[in-house]
Amino acid sequence: MDHFEPRDGALWAEGVSLSALAAEVGTPAYVYSTATLTRHYSVLRDAVAAHSAAFGDALIAFAVKANSNLSVLATLARLGCGADTVSEGEIRRARAAGVPAGKIIFSGVGKTDAELAFALDAGVRQINVESPAELDRLIAVAAGKGACPDIAIRVNPKIGAGGHAKITTGGEGDKFGVPSDEAMALYARAAASPHLNPVGLACHIGSQITDLAPLEAAFRLLRQMTETLRGQGLSVTRLDLGGGLGVPYAGGAHSVSPADYAAMAARVLDGLDVEAAFEPGRLLAANAGVLLSRVIQITERADGRRFVVLDAAMNDLLRPALYDAFHEVKAVTPRPGAKIACDIVGPVCETGDTFARDRALPPLQAGDLVVFTGAGAYGAVMASEYNSRPLVPEILVDGDRWALVRTRPTYEAMLARETMARWL
Ligand SMILES: *Cc1c(COP(=O)(O)O)cnc(C)c1O
Repeated sequence: MDHFEPRDGALWAEGVSLSALAAEVGTPAYVYSTATLTRHYSVLRDAVAAHSAAFGDALIAFAVKANSNLSVLATLARLGCGADTVSEGEIRRARAAGVPAGKIIFSGVGKTDAELAFALDAGVRQINVESPAELDRLIAVAAGKGACPDIAIRVNPKIGAGGHAKITTGGEGDKFGVPSDEAMALYARAAASPHLNPVGLACHIGSQITDLAPLEAAFRLLRQMTETLRGQGLSVTRLDLGGGLGVPYAGGAHSVSPADYAAMAARVLDGLDVEAAFEPGRLLAANAGVLLSRVIQITERADGRRFVVLDAAMNDLLRPALYDAFHEVKAVTPRPGAKIACDIVGPVCETGDTFARDRALPPLQAGDLVVFTGAGAYGAVMASEYNSRPLVPEILVDGDRWALVRTRPTYEAMLARETMARWL
């Protein structure tokens, strides 16, 4: 569910007209809805709270990589949401947005020593260790500081899942996590160090998962491992269940509801007496954002092929080029008339800069506004200035107010970031 709805024949973001935003800020621009972010968070929070006996003092930690805009993070932080981070930059963003360090999880396959040191100084809730080599480095860094951080071992359950091979993370050949037998040995090794406090296990098997079975298998493995470790006299008090829940990109219902997801996890963890953590990214943010764009022109070929050329491109929204992702395209003020099949493309000089092929859309003309829905996660965060197109701005709407929460740099500012080599 989202709050981008038509009013008098034109699409609005909550109480703000998208046409008015385009006129004020220009296009392309991302537009986020506070009401939708809030709703998605509350639905998951309530689903988790319904099973508090199984989840203990549960933490929902938004995966910052999905949308790291400070105002988006602050909106979620005020609702009580924590942060799952994968870099020092993301920890800094979460802190700047008001997420308490005690609600920040630090994940990631390649944390540098400097980043580990930063996380220790920040006092994050937990560091998820993803390899034996990282464990050794963390022991050295913690020893140097006389620290003893809470850690979890990220398990690679050999269960990959997700909407595309590039966003599957739990498979045997994927770079993430430690295979379960090695993970248990690593846990024991961590427990033997005076500089680490192993508190639990973590997993995250992929993204855009629309079937509960692989998640359930992974959670069952975490449960078994917890029982085995406890059998060895080790303490396990937290299980980090990762993120990955899919969202409907083409309208229609969720194939997995947060309620069913939480009920499944509660069934698996029943009686285990752990604190659960959830790391949703896409689930909270995807449908809380649209990319607003204007039609530059319609190019018609003699063979009948029709290209809608937008002022948004793959540098603004990479998912179609990177993952063949589907985003629904809607006219902001649809014109009457039969739908026409067209290719929706951007102006970047690559064929990969194609958002959709043979998509049936109501008639469009140069100057019309369109939105890509479901663009609030893995959208603006992946934007670049490829083709020297200034970084796409971001707008946050809340009821009938809005704010430009990331400005579009001027061409002058874009060029000023670079310095000419002194010999030129
Ligand atoms: C990306 C990521 C997530 C969030 O994934 P979604 O599919 O957006 O929910 C959660 N945890 C970790 C460790 C991640 O890398």
